[in-house]
Amino acid sequence: MKIAFDIDYTLIDEFDKPKYEVIDLFRWFEKQGWDMIIWSGGGVDYAEMWVRKLGLKATIVPKCSMKVDIVVDDEMDEGALDKELNKIAKIIIKVK
Ligand SMILES: [Mg+2]
Repeated sequence: MKIAFDIDYTLIDEFDKPKYEVIDLFRWFEKQGWDMIIWSGGGVDYAEMWVRKLGLKATIVPKCSMKVDIVVDDEMDEGALDKELNKIAKIIIKVK
């Protein structure tokens, strides 16, 4: 199973602080042996920087560039991206 996490407002907040409850969720899925993916609208280099800073292990790909089982993201009501996420994910978990 594949699960993709967004970065901005999902793994980190508006002050660039880690959102530990979301990171805990990431680690829970990781423990189940799932394929962990991280992406960002900010691009692959930006995603790589944050994955390193947060000490996570994940495959980094361009946002919405592959089909996944679950996506964890904050941007569910933003029209175009919302439709994009619906196309590539079976389940969407919205982060506040
Ligand atoms: Mg976001």
